[in-house]
Amino acid sequence: MRLSLIFLFVKPIFIEYHIFLLLKMNYDYLVMDNSRKILADHKVSVTNPRIVVLEALLEIKSPITIDDLLAQLKNKVAKSTLYRVLNDLKDINILHEFSTPDSQTVVELILEDHSHHHHLFCSDCGEIIDVEMATEFENRLLKEIKRIEKKFNFVIEDHRLELFGKCTDLCVNCK
Ligand SMILES: [Zn+2]
Ligand SMILES: [Zn+2]
Ligand SMILES: [Zn+2]
Repeated sequence: MRLSLIFLFVKPIFIEYHIFLLLKMNYDYLVMDNSRKILADHKVSVTNPRIVVLEALLEIKSPITIDDLLAQLKNKVAKSTLYRVLNDLKDINILHEFSTPDSQTVVELILEDHSHHHHLFCSDCGEIIDVEMATEFENRLLKEIKRIEKKFNFVIEDHRLELFGKCTDLCVNCK
């Protein structure tokens, strides 16, 4: 069982988009080597569909619905292949799958540099934004989880905290 907490999102989120653009040029050259390395590190064979899907996810760098991912990969990967590759990535524990408030399936890579975090969901544009909570908050929550485990004689394996709201005019995530 997962512990799910729901809060209301009220503040806009800013991301240094200009820095991202500057970094992107160099980043593109790294993506291909990276995807091969990730597959090799997890001891699975390096196949073309796996490379294509992994490269797309590395480039997107944020959560994406399977439908949007399929649209981005059109002509490159068939739907059935995409599902098969996503399952392969789940099997080696580098893909996280969850649902939007309107029940669309979302996937994102969970690599070492981007592990435990939470999500903001925008009900206007559908954007899903990764957000890390303060360490003190996570630690406090872990204490609370331990208390609940004891009280219910239960092993809690994970928790989710999802924030729902709308972006503002200033939100650079909006396209
Ligand atoms: Zn929005
Ligand atoms: Zn995420
Ligand atoms: Zn957390």
